[in-house]
Amino acid sequence: MITELVSWGESLFYLLARLLIILYFVPTINSIFDLQIIGCKEMELNYVVVRSKKRKKTISLQVRANGTAVISAPHGIPIPEIDKFVREKERWLRRKIRENGERQKEIKAKKYVTGETFFFLGEPYTLNIEAAAPGFDKLAFICGQFILASDKVSQGRELFIDWYRKSAQRYIGERVDHFSHVLKLIPRGIKISNARCRWGSCSQDNHLYFSWRLMMAPRSVIDYLVVHELAHTQEKNHRERFWDIVGNTITDYKKQRVWLKDNGHTLDI
Ligand SMILES: [Zn+2]
Repeated sequence: MITELVSWGESLFYLLARLLIILYFVPTINSIFDLQIIGCKEMELNYVVVRSKKRKKTISLQVRANGTAVISAPHGIPIPEIDKFVREKERWLRRKIRENGERQKEIKAKKYVTGETFFFLGEPYTLNIEAAAPGFDKLAFICGQFILASDKVSQGRELFIDWYRKSAQRYIGERVDHFSHVLKLIPRGIKISNARCRWGSCSQDNHLYFSWRLMMAPRSVIDYLVVHELAHTQEKNHRERFWDIVGNTITDYKKQRVWLKDNGHTLDI
């Protein structure tokens, strides 16, 4: 028994030692551990600082979907300087944290009852629960409202996802055809994915993927993503030539990127 415990302890020791060696040599993983949780006393606001070796000068600020404020900063910047930066952004920070918290509660609280709101192409539409009738037995979008059959409420989420998926196939498919013609860039095909944050992607063989969650975003955001992924069929990177293709077609693409960064987490049910 004792020998067994010793050898178990030994193997655990070697496993930990190997893990530490791996972490030491993989800089990106290593940097995850270079993390500080700081509270700015005057503001009574907690935030997390992630220091990066890659980052040279700038400090950036992001509020995650769960309401955590994350500051990305270069290695050498002292804490008082980071604190000063946070204080300057205090109003924005507080608003973002509050909005994310409210939106998160709203997403979690979806009950699939009459009066709830669901987004479609950036607009809110009301849900109505109605008795199932011949020709209508699941979920439909009629005259600017969603109608869900009363005996299908327990499958509400699955039915909505299926509806968003089908709408995405049709709507995004049409937008890809349109911009494909404009840009003279032809993809191999499009597929609708279930990705939570990866709104779009382009494979090596030029298949385009778009998340069904995008159907909740405004049309202008979808157009930007369509053009972004189409541009990847020619440029498999994010260098200047890539952004030239995007910017020549979607002149306000930076605005759409900011919208996604700020609101992406709300595209969920
Ligand atoms: Zn890209």
